[in-house]
Amino acid sequence: MLFRQRAPARRTRAHPHESSWANYLEPWRTIEIASAVVPTVILSPHPDDAVLSLWHLLDGDGEVVVLNVFGGSPAGHHGDAWWDRLTGAADSVARVAERHAEDRAALAMAGREAVNLDFLDGQYRDAELPLEPVVDRIAQAAPEGLLLAPGALDRHRDHLIVRAAALALGARGREVGLYADVPHATVYGWPAWVSGEPPDPLLDPSVHWDAALAGTGISLRDLPADVHALTPEALDRKLAAVRAYRTQLPALEAQFGALGPEVLGREATWRLTP
Ligand SMILES: [Zn+2]
Repeated sequence: MLFRQRAPARRTRAHPHESSWANYLEPWRTIEIASAVVPTVILSPHPDDAVLSLWHLLDGDGEVVVLNVFGGSPAGHHGDAWWDRLTGAADSVARVAERHAEDRAALAMAGREAVNLDFLDGQYRDAELPLEPVVDRIAQAAPEGLLLAPGALDRHRDHLIVRAAALALGARGREVGLYADVPHATVYGWPAWVSGEPPDPLLDPSVHWDAALAGTGISLRDLPADVHALTPEALDRKLAAVRAYRTQLPALEAQFGALGPEVLGREATWRLTP
């Protein structure tokens, strides 16, 4: 049942008819079929990355698993907790609990819920995190389905680790794709080929993406992009979900600019394997 992340309220299910055993069993057959569907696995480094970057999947009808990779509680951590301090939290354990509550509220708006892996966010670590345990834990938590990893398009250290883990699994035959991890990916705005706007001759944000992918052998310019322009209704739902991350928004907007429709109204993914 691991892959049935969508809350039951979003599933259509026939009501059993009291007078017939055959009818009574029918709903359970429906559940069997649903659980066999191969999901898309969203690798969300932190609570909020999936909602910010892949709302079209969360808000859609497909099976989706959300793995918050750095979802551990930082009791006794050895990091500087700089982001928590920046965002007004003196107690990191309480803040992580608060962020998970925000995430549950945001994902619930799409009838979803996340699985939190227990790796510690970069601000709680004082040493490099070895990659192999992350690879193993992702493979164990989500053994099948397309893995969608953050492009780490602004080179955030936690996003880089998740991308590297996904690429390692891709090298072992797993289907892998990347997504533009908003708002990191859009620090210079969307490239014209994503936004659909006329190109600015004095600004090409894809150059920043090229630099972030240096050494991976991946060039997003050479891959077909799946660009999703959210409908006004879907965008409204996404904006409401994003607002649930109340403790994070002031710092994110101070760092990356306003998270308005120009940024959040588009999402982009690239498949790395056929
Ligand atoms: Zn993140």
